[in-house]
Amino acid sequence: MTFRLTVLGTATPYPRPGNPCSGYLLRTEHTAVWVDAGPGTLAELQRHHRPDLLDAVWISHTHADHAADLLPYYYALLFAGEHPHRPIPLYGPPGLAARLETFLAGADHNPAAAAFDVHELHDGHHAEVGDITLASHAVDHGLPAFGLRATHADRVIAYSGDTGPCPALDTLADGADLLLCEADGAGPHHCTPEDAAAAGRRAKRLLLTHIGHTLTNAEATERARAAVARPGETVVIK
Ligand SMILES: [Zn+2]
Repeated sequence: MTFRLTVLGTATPYPRPGNPCSGYLLRTEHTAVWVDAGPGTLAELQRHHRPDLLDAVWISHTHADHAADLLPYYYALLFAGEHPHRPIPLYGPPGLAARLETFLAGADHNPAAAAFDVHELHDGHHAEVGDITLASHAVDHGLPAFGLRATHADRVIAYSGDTGPCPALDTLADGADLLLCEADGAGPHHCTPEDAAAAGRRAKRLLLTHIGHTLTNAEATERARAAVARPGETVVIK
């Protein structure tokens, strides 16, 4: 039994050379879920998994640094000779489908539906994707936004999405084998490294991500006493 988190990118609010924006790949032996599709992550994803063979995509919120690569992903699925057996299940905040349709509008009436089977998240939403359970909790980010608690067997990987400290962040973290928590540092609606550390004490392990422009990785690590996720690294939960 292994449950793996691969870091595709952590940058915000725009991708840097060698570091896309927010994106992660959750994998078991049988299931693969792309968690957040920040710009640059579709390319990195391909080092690890075929994009057309993903079991689902989960999007925390519609800020571009978490969702923009859904657009090239649409083209990859429909216009590059890839043939998914069915539209890829896409879990995201209310309004995500309309956002995609607006950008993709062209000859087709409803283009996104050809590529994606969209499921709107709500607080407490549960989805079974292969052998991973995805539980979504509404968090505090100033717009509809969710954190994720992903369970495989009895192992839990939690992800804050973008949020300030809030009860839902604590719920996400409670007893998790790994908490991947943002430490943007530029509030409101974001965590400081100390906020991430406080949530991290509820989990067995804390990994920081999404370090904002007011911080360096070294400062975030020192203040939270936790490592910053490195692009390309894979954390294995056994
Ligand atoms: Zn955001």
